[in-house]
Formats: sequence, structure tokens, C-alpha cells
Amino acid sequence: MKKTIKDSCINEFDPNALEEIQAINKIVGTIKSIKITEKVNIKDALHRTISSTVRAPINVPSFRNSAMDGYALNLNDLKLNKFQLSEVGVSFAGKPFQSPLRKGETIRVMTGALIPKNADAVVMKEMVSRKDMLINFSQHIKKNQNIRFIGEDIRKGKIVFKRGDELNFSGLSILSSLGIEYVNVFCKPKISYFSSGDELVPTGKKLQQGQIYDSNRYLLHGLLKDLPVSFSDLGIVKDKKTHLVKKLERASSISDIIITTGGVSVGDADYIKDALEEVGSVGFWKIAIKPGRPLAFGKINSCYFFGLPGNPVSAAVTFQLFVIPAINKILSQKSKKTILIKAISKSKLKKKPGRTEYKRAIMSIKNNQIYVETTGLQGSNIMMSMLKANCYIRLSTDVSDVREGDTVEVIPFSNKI
Ligand code: AMP
Ligand code: MG
Repeated sequence: MKKTIKDSCINEFDPNALEEIQAINKIVGTIKSIKITEKVNIKDALHRTISSTVRAPINVPSFRNSAMDGYALNLNDLKLNKFQLSEVGVSFAGKPFQSPLRKGETIRVMTGALIPKNADAVVMKEMVSRKDMLINFSQHIKKNQNIRFIGEDIRKGKIVFKRGDELNFSGLSILSSLGIEYVNVFCKPKISYFSSGDELVPTGKKLQQGQIYDSNRYLLHGLLKDLPVSFSDLGIVKDKKTHLVKKLERASSISDIIITTGGVSVGDADYIKDALEEVGSVGFWKIAIKPGRPLAFGKINSCYFFGLPGNPVSAAVTFQLFVIPAINKILSQKSKKTILIKAISKSKLKKKPGRTEYKRAIMSIKNNQIYVETTGLQGSNIMMSMLKANCYIRLSTDVSDVREGDTVEVIPFSNKI
């Protein structure tokens, strides 16, 4: 990868366009987190942010129990009895054997079952030999082996979650293991979105000449569905400033965030920026990235506004780059760093310096080396380039053309390819 001088390149390209990182910082710096909290059942708390400290009300485990199916014994007693003990009972998980061991005794124990107070080792079932009720043990038994101790996972009183922690599946497991049914979390932000464009037709209707189906509302539905937000689809709005102004006013009274797609560029029918200026304020509207250069960020009263580009690939990329950090901030979640992996490019890539470019690509692994190639046509209208991709190639501002065999930075979409 050839490096070029950063500043001169930005000026060559577009002096008014914000760099990607500056834009993210501006968004995150502007957005205020929702402070209102609610108490919800833990099942409804997945991916949500904890709003007050949670301390363990009990120890986990709350009693000493067996880590194996086997025999509980007392080591001193075992030695005194020449490594042979009589089985006098069984302790099941949930049906404990309550009495202490007496001289020469062992009990059979199941995984998770309470073990007698004076037992100090459990021996796996597979490691003993038995004759009727007499059990013979080996001489190599260690004190405390296969015993789970009180509080070894979570000590009573320990802080398990702090304000700002996000709950995942492990969090739900921990809370329920502590007997906690309800937690305090920050309220979900309300997100409204609509598409703008005279050419847009909802699915289910017949297309006339020059019309296209509105796919961006489905794209946004898919992107928002897995996030801890509530959202509503406000339909399609014509390319008319007065219509947009009305819709924005109404949407801002019921939303924390409004997302629109289309009409944000410099075409004759692009009215989003003007409409936003009329009802609220524009923070910025051009970013030095491809795809997705025109992106309006602003505010309408206390509601944040994102005007994403109309081309579906640009809408998807700008959502991931700019709207996700905004949602994280509004949810009081910690900022997350993107993992960049180095890969060898199998494609020759054209790249203008002065802006960051995101190519849709497929990464593969051969002989422990990661390779990457683009998904073909990279136009911001070519949604198939996104469908086939399992990663982005991220070419930062100062990078220019990439040759085959050059090392590039890749952002995987998931941890499996
Ligand atoms: P615009 O940002 O309005 O200039 O639109 C750029 C391109 O994206 C045009 O080709 C539009 O037809 C297309 N486009 C805009 N909105 C949508 C949408 N909701 N679904 C699919 N394509 C769209
Ligand atoms: Mg348009």
C-alpha cells in the first residue's frame, strides 16, 4: 500500500468533508445518553444496559458439592481404613444425603449433589473398584479434589454488574443463578425511519416505468431488529420539502432518533438537508468516505437525526459506521473498538487518497494466512456486493491504489467465515 500525505489529499478531495473518525467523535460527543430507567424481567434485558449496581445476594455455589459422579470420603479415614470404605448412602443433585460420614464410610455422589460436611475429596466413579458395598480406592487421592466450594464462582456481596454494563447471554445466566428475576436497565431509545424519493414504491405494488421498490426500510428493519431499541417504520415520503418538514416534525415528537434514507445529496430533488435546516439544525452533512459521502447529522429539538444516502450499500455502511456508535452512546454502553485484521489482497484495488473506502469483500484462510478479494462490482447501488461479502476491506484516508499481494486491513462481519 502506497502512503501519501494526509492533509493535502483531503483538500484535493473535498475540504468540507469530515473525516470518518472526526464524524464519529462529533456524533458521539453530541449525543446524550438516555437517563430514564426501568425495571424489567431479566429475559427482557438481553443486550440492554444495566443502570444500577447489582451485588450477589447469595454465594454461587451456595453449598459444597461434587464436580463428578463418584464417591465422597474423608482422606484421613480412608488411610486408616487401608483405602477400603463401605458405601452407606447416595447423594443426588437436589436430594442430598444429609449426615456426616462415620468411620469407614463413603457415599455415592452425583455431580452437583451436596457432599457431607466432613468429606474432603471426591473420587470419580471410574477410578474405584467395588465388591458389593465395599469400595476400593487408589492411594493417589488429593485433598479437596473434585469438590466445588461455596462462593467459588460468585461470592455473596460481590458486584456482578455495574452501571453501563451490557447484558449478554452469560449475564442472564449469572443473574438467574443468583435468583434475580428483575434488573434496572436504561430505557430503550425510540427510533423512527422513513424513505424519501418519488421513485419509491412499497413491495406488493406494481412498478411503473422509472419506479423502484423501496428496499431501505427493510434494510433498516434488518439492521435494527437485533438491537435493544424500539423502532417504527414511517413509510415513504415524496421528494417535496414541505412533506419532509411535516414528517420530520411529527417524527421528532415521538422519537429519540430519526433515520431517513435518500434525498441527502446535491441533486435537484434532494431536500433532506433543507428540510432539516427548517425544523432543526445540521451538524454536518458530508463525510470523506466511500460509499456514503453525503450523510446529514443533526438535531430536531431533543431528537437526533441521521439522513443516510439513498443507495442501499451506502445506507448500510453509514448505518454501521455512524448510527451504531450513536445508539451505543444513547444506550450508555461503553464505546467499542473495531477489530482490524491484516490480510493479503487477491484483488487490485483503485483508491483515491483523501477519503476512507470500504470495499465489500470475501476473506478466506489458506495455510494460516488470511486472503481477501472484493465481491466484484463495487457500485453503491450493487447490493449483491454486500450479500456475498463476509468482511469489509478498509482503506484509510492516506492509502492509495492497492496491488495484488499487498497487505490490507479487513473488518470481518462475524467470527466465522
Ligand atoms: P438519493 O440519495 O435520493 O439521490 O438516491 C440515490 C440512489 O438510491 C438512487 O438511485 C435512488 O433511486 C436509490 N434509492 C433511494 N432510496 C432508496 C430506497 N429506499 N430503496 C432503494 N433504493 C433507493
Ligand atoms: Mg432521491
